Amino acid sequence: MIDAHNHLHDTAAFAPVETVFQRAMEAGVRRMICNAARESDWQTVLQLAKQYPLSITPALGIHPWYVAETQDGWQDRLANLLREHPGWIIGETGLDLYHQPLNESLQEECFRTHLQLGYELRRPVVIHCVRAWDWMMRILRETPHLPPALLFHAYSGGKELLAKLLQYGGWFSFAGTLLYEKNIRARQSLPLVPKDRLLLETDAPDLAGPPQYRSGHLKDETGKDKSEPADLRLILGGVSTLLDMAAEELEAQLETNFTTFLSL
Ligand SMILES: [Zn+2]
Repeated sequence: MIDAHNHLHDTAAFAPVETVFQRAMEAGVRRMICNAARESDWQTVLQLAKQYPLSITPALGIHPWYVAETQDGWQDRLANLLREHPGWIIGETGLDLYHQPLNESLQEECFRTHLQLGYELRRPVVIHCVRAWDWMMRILRETPHLPPALLFHAYSGGKELLAKLLQYGGWFSFAGTLLYEKNIRARQSLPLVPKDRLLLETDAPDLAGPPQYRSGHLKDETGKDKSEPADLRLILGGVSTLLDMAAEELEAQLETNFTTFLSL
């Protein structure tokens, strides 16, 4: 099984990363994309990828929440790291009109830089988009040369945008939060995503699903469950029921998808 989007390094706030990683292996979650969110994460994620080279594919980028932290020259430092490591991808980047402060112009500039880099280096780009879909669609429409693939993680754009995003090279990943019955938008989109463009994720340590879809091993200081990569097995079980597919069949499809996605 594959966790298509997490922040394994951030689980260190709650438990040793080695323990969390080991539980993922024991649950059969053998590969993952570990996403950096700010430049100060890059080396941590790179270190993890060196420690677990068969399992971890790093994504390096600047998350929209952290655009104000960027230091001069980050674009060149990111491009250099990616050039040194042809198998690595770009992210987490994107747009967010919910989390304060918004820093809208910086977000846009930063996101456009990631798209440009993805195009130039031919790398997939991992995208966070929260309450910013009109803005997202405008930027994608205005960008003549897009990266080979765009992975919309924890997809929340609704079924209406799927066709257009597919044309832009969109892939769609869902986290455990999809399994809340109230998550109607995501649940309507799921069956309409072409099976060969679908991925699943934990977004560990965030976006934990309903209690029956989380292992409960990882907890914050208040005792609240955090998600971890091992939870992917439970999420896959829940999603296969929603899709009316056998879990083994879905698992095989997701493995094929992941290989294709990384080879684009
Ligand atoms: Zn994330």
